[in-house]
Amino acid sequence: MLPGEPEIHDIVGIGFGPSNLAVAIALEECDQPLDAVFLDRKPGFAWHPGLMFPGAEMQVSFTKDLITMRNPRSRYTFLNYLSEQGPGRLGKFINLRTFYPTRVEFNDYYAWAAAQFDKQVRWNTEVLDVTPVPAECGGTELLRLVSRDRSTGETSAILTRNLLIAPGGTPHVPDGAELGERVFHASETRERLARTFDDRSAPHHFNIVGSGQTSADVFMHVRRTYPNARITTNIRGFAMRPEDDTHFVNELFLPEFPDWFHRQDSEFRQKIIDDYGLAAHTGVSYDVIPQIYREYYEDQSAGIDSLALHRFTELVGARSDDGGAVATYFHLDSGETSQVESDAVVLATGYRYPMPIPALAAVDEHLRMETPQRYAIRRDYAIESAEDFMPRIYLQGYAEATHGFSEVLLSLMPLRAAEIVQSITENASVESR
Ligand SMILES: Cc1cc2nc3c(=O)[nH]c(=O)nc-3n(C[C@H](O)[C@H](O)[C@H](O)COP(=O)(O)OP(=O)(O)OC[C@H]3O[C@@H](n4cnc5c(N)ncnc54)[C@H](O)[C@@H]3O)c2cc1C
Repeated sequence: MLPGEPEIHDIVGIGFGPSNLAVAIALEECDQPLDAVFLDRKPGFAWHPGLMFPGAEMQVSFTKDLITMRNPRSRYTFLNYLSEQGPGRLGKFINLRTFYPTRVEFNDYYAWAAAQFDKQVRWNTEVLDVTPVPAECGGTELLRLVSRDRSTGETSAILTRNLLIAPGGTPHVPDGAELGERVFHASETRERLARTFDDRSAPHHFNIVGSGQTSADVFMHVRRTYPNARITTNIRGFAMRPEDDTHFVNELFLPEFPDWFHRQDSEFRQKIIDDYGLAAHTGVSYDVIPQIYREYYEDQSAGIDSLALHRFTELVGARSDDGGAVATYFHLDSGETSQVESDAVVLATGYRYPMPIPALAAVDEHLRMETPQRYAIRRDYAIESAEDFMPRIYLQGYAEATHGFSEVLLSLMPLRAAEIVQSITENASVESR
């Protein structure tokens, strides 16, 4: 490499959340001479910091950590993390008799694992776009990533043979909602509350939109943090519904499931996604629902009436307004529209994985789409591409329609990571022949 020329790597990863962290572990454990660099726009490791509420529990067992499902003997297991946290921690955790650590503890586990790959990670580095680099004999040989250092504003370029895309979900903002000082997505809850609502005893009015786990977590956090607050929760349906993680349904997350699912035709796969969506995304942890119900019961029986649940309401507008927020709702049952004034609107409205991926716009013509909204994604998580397009682009989080529910969740991350590493390794050995 000449001075001033961009570095060339075997693998560059966009994002260093749990998905690419699992890949870093799989790469280290496969013992192949592949070099990898990960670029993440955050200043350091943090797993969904805006939603890291004290006491909130994981929705999967600790055995679904970064590696146990693939290699329980690895030094990156959650149990090994505990054993390295000083005398007594492992024993005390075992004595808790739970499979469900808090999210705060699991974030600390992830950060402990991430710290062991610090030399491979460039923090504060936001990838802006990806362009193809032509080969001398035609076709595309490499990918060029341009990124911006968020601390200095400088841009730089890096080249790669394989690109791993794992930027996580994009917060979904419903049509009509204008983000602002008092209207924000739930993913920013902690920093927004700390910034604007430092008086914990004040009678603030929070307006929460959504009926999933995030809405439930925000409700419980706000209720505990601001005991005198009014909380209005607005849901599109009749009630919050529980996540279905009963034993037979949970077999959706067995290691062999993606193989079977990928072989089915798209109509049948979609039927399974429609039938079992509650298992994966939209449901609230079974034991949190009674806790929320109790809060409503106690509030009403004490005659305080600070909690309201508005059913069949769809948010159609929201804006910050003179030190407060105004939300407009369409009532699906009556067909009427109403406005709710509050101190803040919290949009617990989920995440999306937009496809085509905006950062890949310059590469799109080389990639195959299965539908106008979805890349054709191979079993090994690579996007199908034109024959003369040599670099591989692997997606993590985008393949629910073809690989099943585990795609956006933690359950099978270690296996997906290993499959991607195996695919890169096999491809590298074919090319070097
Ligand atoms: C609050 C919360 C709790 C969850 N709890 C569970 C659970 O208990 N069980 C479960 O199975 N699933 C859970 N999930 C779902 C899933 O586990 C997470 O979404 C998981 O974090 C996905 O990992 P990831 O690495 O793909 O994405 P993320 O964790 O979102 O990480 C993506 C990383 O990419 C970086 N990035 C994004 N864009 C760029 C860019 N352009 N350039 C550089 N870096 C970029 C981000 O800074 C981030 O660090 C939860 C999700 C949320 C939101």
